Amino acid sequence: MTEWSIGKIKKIKYWTENLFSIIINAKINNFSAGQFTKLALDINGKKIQRAYSYINSPNNQNYEFYISNIKKGKLSPYLYNLKINDKIFISKNSSGTFILNNIQSCKNLWMLSTGTGIGPYLSILQDKVCFKKFAKIILIHSIRYIEDFNYLNLVKSIEKNYYNKLIVQIILTRNTNINNFLYGYIPNLIKNGQLEKKIGIKISPRNSHIMLCGHPEMIQQTQNFLEKNRGFSKNLKNQNGNITSERYW
Ligand SMILES: Cc1cc2nc3c(=O)[nH]c(=O)nc-3n(C[C@H](O)[C@H](O)[C@H](O)COP(=O)(O)OP(=O)(O)OC[C@H]3O[C@@H](n4cnc5c(N)ncnc54)[C@H](O)[C@@H]3O)c2cc1C
Repeated sequence: MTEWSIGKIKKIKYWTENLFSIIINAKINNFSAGQFTKLALDINGKKIQRAYSYINSPNNQNYEFYISNIKKGKLSPYLYNLKINDKIFISKNSSGTFILNNIQSCKNLWMLSTGTGIGPYLSILQDKVCFKKFAKIILIHSIRYIEDFNYLNLVKSIEKNYYNKLIVQIILTRNTNINNFLYGYIPNLIKNGQLEKKIGIKISPRNSHIMLCGHPEMIQQTQNFLEKNRGFSKNLKNQNGNITSERYW
């Protein structure tokens, strides 16, 4: 049974019609960067709960979540309509294995994300552990339009703290012809070699770990390709591998 804490909405950022962030203040237990918690509201007499990944680092008690407003979704449209100081249920304990403790140190850490799937990486990157464990970190963020790159300022400030260790690459799936971006879907850009060419680093199981977060199709297709063609394997509880993933649905 989930043990709930009652939190308060401290801030809401409306980025676009479909994307928003909420910041919650609440008394909850510690979490690890990369984990998720459950948020819930009482809607028509029923408690509706869903999982959301933290954006903030574990030492910041402004609990921030980056959320897609899903049309006809059972919870997200209600989260979108919350106001400052509204009450919200947040699970006291966090969950999830999408954390660096479960990943062995290696040369290159690839963080591949679609949409709001960038969330756990922002939390991980703001945590100092990441800096020491890998020589290069490559953050890939696939979004529909350039207007959807909502955490640009945070990413820029993180980049400064990582000096040349962090490479950030945006991939646009709907816009075309904007300089310095890649266009298309992550699995296709790996298959056709465009992603590696742009970054200038080969995706090899000898020196890389791949993290995948967000859209289940991106995760499935990327994982299938890397397993079949590049010799990658899933990182399991009892068997170290080099692909760690978090599906959002
Ligand atoms: C471990 C974990 C962490 C998650 N973290 C986040 C997060 O940080 N931010 C976030 O927005 N969502 C996150 N999700 C998804 C979230 O839990 C909900 O599924 C989502 O908010 C939709 O809930 P809903 O009740 O509005 O829609 P529902 O009525 O439950 O409809 C679900 C449908 O919405 C679509 N969907 C679900 N999530 C997304 C999404 N993120 N983008 C586009 N389409 C989606 C899918 O088609 C899915 O079948 C996470 C899920 C998991 C399992």
